[in-house]
Amino acid sequence: MAEQTIIFGGTFDPVHNGHLTTARCVAKAVGSKSVLLVPTAGNPLKSATPLAPEHRLAMLTAATRHDDLFAIDDVELYRTPPSFTIDTVRYFQQNRTDNLAMIIGADMIPDLPRWRAIDELLDSVQLLIASRPPDNHETVKRRIESLTGQLSEKQIAGLVESIIPTPLVDISSTEIRRRIAARESITDMTPPPVEEYIMQHGLYAE
Ligand code: ATP
Repeated sequence: MAEQTIIFGGTFDPVHNGHLTTARCVAKAVGSKSVLLVPTAGNPLKSATPLAPEHRLAMLTAATRHDDLFAIDDVELYRTPPSFTIDTVRYFQQNRTDNLAMIIGADMIPDLPRWRAIDELLDSVQLLIASRPPDNHETVKRRIESLTGQLSEKQIAGLVESIIPTPLVDISSTEIRRRIAARESITDMTPPPVEEYIMQHGLYAE
């Protein structure tokens, strides 16, 4: 069987230690030596416009340069929004491997039934679900089970089995952007090279 490709999509605006710790722990839990970070043009279910792709890509590169676990694929970045995960999945199936897994944080669970072509997506990709505050392992399970009626019983059982126990890291890009605008410290929230890049380019300052 072809080696599994683990993809981790996100806006990464900016990338932070929640993303990186989660990816490292999930990869370790499933015995994978690589995670492919896939920055998105924008989340069709979120309204805010993210920072220019060049900056987000530069920060991802700065954050992961010295860690062989990570590679970056910019396939989604220059697509005209909305950018759908299913398009990326089909792309990887055609160009790389059909043995795909995908990391998502628990906050994405309520939106899953609204994802484009969710049935095809759940059939073709193994999801790896990471807990994220305010959820913990138990509440993530309940969150998935509350999708009864929106997803099939088999899909819900599959999602529950996809929960990977990961450490809870209470960091979000929103909080980082808020802190910078309020001139508060973001130390320990993102790797130092990302913080340096943000300060150098005056990002998120207002
Ligand atoms: P924002 O605050 O702008 O909404 P975010 O911090 O949620 O951003 P994204 O780049 O939108 O970051 O998230 C990409 C993926 O990473 C999603 O699947 C999300 O659930 C997951 N993720 C982000 N932060 C964490 C975290 N602290 N713990 C676990 N998963 C996370």
